This record gives sequence, structure tokens and C-alpha cells, in this order.
Amino acid sequence: MKKFDLPTDVKKYITNRRIKTFICFLITEIIFFVITYLIIGRLAKWDMNNFIFTLCVIDAIPLFIYQIPNMIFDRSYKGEIIKISYKEENSDSGMRSSIFKRYRTNLLVKTKQDKLYNIKLESLNTTGGPNGQIYKEGDTVVHIAGTDFPKIVKRHDMEFTTCVVCGSKNNVGEEKCDYCNHSLSIK
Ligand SMILES: [Zn+2]
Repeated sequence: MKKFDLPTDVKKYITNRRIKTFICFLITEIIFFVITYLIIGRLAKWDMNNFIFTLCVIDAIPLFIYQIPNMIFDRSYKGEIIKISYKEENSDSGMRSSIFKRYRTNLLVKTKQDKLYNIKLESLNTTGGPNGQIYKEGDTVVHIAGTDFPKIVKRHDMEFTTCVVCGSKNNVGEEKCDYCNHSLSIK
């Protein structure tokens, strides 16, 4: 699979984020360990089979919560958005929510190798509902492993591009994101 050439500041952002995730993972794993072995295991007087089961099943849960396997492999890819779906987020009612409705967006991306990926977007640019969407069906995007927002690299009317770190719209040709100041060029 093709690897992308990332600017240093974006690389640094991804590394810092991974370190934070890994620390959270370790803390969760320690909590799981204490609860399962030191508390439940002792109280229930577990035998060897119970311990092995717990180790392989229960204590493996944080690995998937924090998607640790994804950190080991570079799962960056390029593909075309073939379907976009929206889901209104439950907000805390009241008048405000009728103006600022938040939408969870799902992008279905198909690569040249016919692999399908689902990308969930949960923040910032999902406000505004279907009409306020940055992404459109037919856009070609690259998804950089470790970031949330796929970058639009090709569309029919290419007047802006997106930031992989914060998802903001930026004019084509800009070097840094207007909002978070991360580099925009990805080759
Ligand atoms: Zn940005």
C-alpha cells in the first residue's frame, strides 16, 4: 500500500496523540488488571483456567477500545467517497439545539483495490447538517492513519481543501491551516 509523505508538524501531531492514547490504554489496562485479578480473582478463588481466560478475553478489551492494533500498522489509504450518511446527535434539548444541531457523519470510502472503509466524523464540521457538509460524494480523499479527518484531494470544483487535524476548510494553495496552523500539504 502507498505510504504518504507527511509534513513534520502533522507527523508530530500523530505521534503525540498516539503517546497520549497509549498512556490512557496502559492506565485502563492496569485498572482492568486490578479489578479482575486482585479483586475478583482472589475473592472467587480462581484456578489457572480462569486466569488464562481473563487474560485472553477480558484484559484484551482495552486493546480494542484504544485500537492499539491500528497503531502498529499504517492504515492510511486513498479512495473515493461513495456514500455519505448523517445521524442527528441527541443534544440536550432546548431552543439552542434547534439552531445548532449536530450531525454525526459517516463516510463510506472505496479504494482502487475495491476495499471499503467507514469513517465516522463526530466534531466541528459536522454542525450545520447535510447542507453544511464539507465532504461530498465523488470526492477523492486520503485518510492518514492517526488523524480524524480525511483530506479531499480531488473533486469536481476544487476550490478548497481540508485539514487532516481539525477538519477545517482551507483554500487550495494555502500552506497552513487557518484554524489550527498545521501544514496542509500531503503527498
Ligand atoms: Zn486544521
